Amino acid sequence: MDKLKKRIIEEGVVVSEEVLKLDKLLNHQVDPELMMELGREFAERFRGEGITRVVTVESSGISIAFATAYALGVPLVFARRKKTLLEEADMLQERVPSFTKGIVTDILISRDLINAQDRVLFIDDIIANGDAAKGLIKIVERSGAKLVGAGIVVEKCFQSGAQAIRDQGIRLETLAKIKSLENGQVIFAE
Ligand code: 5GP
Repeated sequence: MDKLKKRIIEEGVVVSEEVLKLDKLLNHQVDPELMMELGREFAERFRGEGITRVVTVESSGISIAFATAYALGVPLVFARRKKTLLEEADMLQERVPSFTKGIVTDILISRDLINAQDRVLFIDDIIANGDAAKGLIKIVERSGAKLVGAGIVVEKCFQSGAQAIRDQGIRLETLAKIKSLENGQVIFAE
């Protein structure tokens, strides 16, 4: 994924030692060609796993999850984020802290959209502390579906999320692994 790394170097903005802005290719503006290529990469890595649905969390995960679902020929389901304390009976729901917004939101997926027959692939844009991933994994577990694995475009290795997911025995594939954002520079792990 040298092309992705090049784009991150050229277009990413290091906001702090913890945050990398990728507004030009992933989080605000989206490059459709790059997204389709990354989607095909995830699809190749997980092909043969009998995936029936791709799931993500709105909104930043949608473009890459769409590209992956398209390449696999399966539907994409995106969890909605809601800022309400009300439980909704027909929805599977988890409360997660939002890394970038500094608030807590509920993520919800309709019980009609994933079920015990599904083999689910979780796809997202960036993993930091892993709260979004952990929340979504709990929702998938409660639906009775089988989580086949997770594919995330950017792994910030210096934060705990990716390791925590792997420690749960979940197969996690990431396309760019960032070791550090110190001194305003993106340093990749490999
Ligand atoms: P986590 O739940 O793993 O702590 O954070 C995951 C979500 O927060 C990602 O889906 C992403 O949208 C956002 N996020 C985490 N770290 C960064 C970052 O460095 N830059 C940007 N733009 N978003 C981030």
